Amino acid sequence: MKTSPSWIDEFPARIAELDRVHLRRKRRVVVPEGGARLQVDGQSMLAFCSNDYLGLAGHPALVEAACAGARAFGVGSGASPLVSGHSMANAALEEELARFTQLPRALYFYAGYATNIGIVPALVGEGDALFSDALNHACLIDGARLSRAHIHRYAHGDLAALEAALAQSPARRKLVISDAVFSMDGDIADIPALLALCERYDALLLLDDAHGFGVLGPQGRGSLAHFELAGPNASRRVLYMATLGKAAGVAGAFVAGDDALVEWLLQKTRSYTFATAAPPLLASALCESLALIETEQWRRDHLSRLIARLREGLAIALQGTPWTLGESTTAIQALVIGPNDEALAVMEGLRERGLWVPAIRPPTVPEGTARLRIALSAAHSEADVDRLLQALAELAPRILKMSLENLDVHCL
Ligand SMILES: *Cc1c(COP(=O)(O)O)cnc(C)c1O
Repeated sequence: MKTSPSWIDEFPARIAELDRVHLRRKRRVVVPEGGARLQVDGQSMLAFCSNDYLGLAGHPALVEAACAGARAFGVGSGASPLVSGHSMANAALEEELARFTQLPRALYFYAGYATNIGIVPALVGEGDALFSDALNHACLIDGARLSRAHIHRYAHGDLAALEAALAQSPARRKLVISDAVFSMDGDIADIPALLALCERYDALLLLDDAHGFGVLGPQGRGSLAHFELAGPNASRRVLYMATLGKAAGVAGAFVAGDDALVEWLLQKTRSYTFATAAPPLLASALCESLALIETEQWRRDHLSRLIARLREGLAIALQGTPWTLGESTTAIQALVIGPNDEALAVMEGLRERGLWVPAIRPPTVPEGTARLRIALSAAHSEADVDRLLQALAELAPRILKMSLENLDVHCL
């Protein structure tokens, strides 16, 4: 009897196809070595790819707080927050997050991805309308899809297009979703203009500030505070979401805003209800992290100086090359190279020099804009930035020459 081949036997061939088109992703085993240095598969590297923007992830005070939290509460939370998992430490963290962000109330989640895929469907559903910036993070996009609301995707930052879509929408419930700082380009959304549109068209605004929290605004209070839209100026039309595994150096996320909105999310977010609460020891570490974010302004000052130094240095190093530097004032700096193979060659050349900077290729970024995503951190020194500049200045003419001669740039 002839049996048709099972799809379950196709995975090796499908993986081979990923290899063929250079899209198979590999993980590296890393061990932190202090500062921005990482041991990567056994080799010591200077890393420009971590989102630990303030250099807090390995801070001794956070480690000590986590240990104290473990001693007080154990290592597991045991259940969903709606059953018995809402530890005293997690409750205290929510109070602190609301105070820190100057918003009425905060709800703490175990991860940012889970927050967005859960809260968007809790807010809108079939018959409602969603308006989403084309460069939003994957978890906002996935949340939008899960919601089954009608999705209007507008070109990145195109507020005229957003306004037209809002004006035309017959839906009564409208939700605008946007990254506050875009994760691949580092540019900041025009939050006051987004909010004004939401006011005009009776829409709610959900902002994902994964890359602004801790870094932007006075005392690192985030993008809303940066635009003076927190505290007494806070709008009930804004839900502010941020993650705690980036600048805060630990893990998890939260959503904050109007009391009734947050209460609704607590009632209706499936990824909150049907998941085990974050371990309380993380909340202990996070309370310590918030205190350092608030008081240690020097971390943000140092980071700003590094950003300026990198941008000034690159402006010189890139002269006469087709490579461009994205418009960004944040810790995320996109060096747009263009062709995929060239971007990979630069990444490889840097790797050989002990520098780890990830190349980001389509479909993560638009076709023809393969780039290096340089992430700076207060853990870097000025000498670290100079090393990267020096290496890029060395590599640029060599790689461009090879590209021009159509040689195989993989053999650097
Ligand atoms: C990292 C990130 C997330 C996901 O947060 P996790 O806590 O890592 O799950 C969500 N949104 C944006 C914009 C991010 O960069």
